[in-house]
Amino acid sequence: MYEWHWHIEWQTPYEFHGHAITKVIAEEKTPYQRALLVELARFGKALILDGKIQSSLADEFIYHEALVHPLLLSLNNPEKVLILGGGEGATLREVLKHKSVKSATMVDIDPVVIDFAKKYLPEWHQGSFDNPRSKLIIKDGYKFIKETKEVYDAIVIDLTDPIKDSPSQLLYTKEFYEDLKKITKGGIVTQATSPSFSLETFSIIYNTIRQVFKKVSAGIVYVPAFDGLWGFVYASDNVAPTELTKDEVNKRIKERIQGELKFYDGETHYTMFSIPKHIREVIEKE
Ligand code: SAM
Repeated sequence: MYEWHWHIEWQTPYEFHGHAITKVIAEEKTPYQRALLVELARFGKALILDGKIQSSLADEFIYHEALVHPLLLSLNNPEKVLILGGGEGATLREVLKHKSVKSATMVDIDPVVIDFAKKYLPEWHQGSFDNPRSKLIIKDGYKFIKETKEVYDAIVIDLTDPIKDSPSQLLYTKEFYEDLKKITKGGIVTQATSPSFSLETFSIIYNTIRQVFKKVSAGIVYVPAFDGLWGFVYASDNVAPTELTKDEVNKRIKERIQGELKFYDGETHYTMFSIPKHIREVIEKE
């Protein structure tokens, strides 16, 4: 009926979302993953790794603003930030919006994804890789954390999902979070998969981090290109984004952020941390 090529994204073994593709921009099998850049009929350009949409032009701002700002605004003017993963450069872009940030180091394992981003995704990174405050390191984040002597104010974890044998698998373990705790003065945040399609994984990530940090909060957003809810876990021993009121979030955005936010403000903050009962019951059960 329709003359499209389709990207079929399996959300669980029993269901998929079909995205109509209007153009394949680039494709490469890297030593770490299958990287594919396409133009989707509904969402525009999209990066797909191992069959999973990482972000799309139409709504990447939802994911990236939700990942970065609740943690950074809850901390006391973070200066030194580490990003693990974050290939597209959009997490780096959001971190650099914080006036207090003096250095943002991004560690991604896959140079092919970075090359794709630099060449084809200017709307995502918006020149962030060339910002004098940025430093890009191509390395396995797991090894980087084992070897670094640096201490950071905040660590933002923007990795592919913890699927068996994926390069990110070890970066969702208790041992890894314990290593991170030793090198952060402020807090960490990680993307935590989808409460719609992998509630158990979301719950495991939340509860693993709760074994390591004192103040841990789960936030959720709806991302249309992912066709479901997406979750994040924010952790620190001292502060939690959930301690911020709507007005305080708006005040801090005004004082501390340079540039526009399209998704996150005091009102959105409130909705992100109002977790529906059925999800709360699962994640608080452990
Ligand atoms: N928004 C995403 C999602 O929905 O899952 C995550 C985006 S970002 C593209 C994921 C990045 O994690 C990729 O660029 C990938 O190369 C990187 N990555 C995976 N494993 C890694 C590791 N062990 N160390 C550093 N980067 C890693």
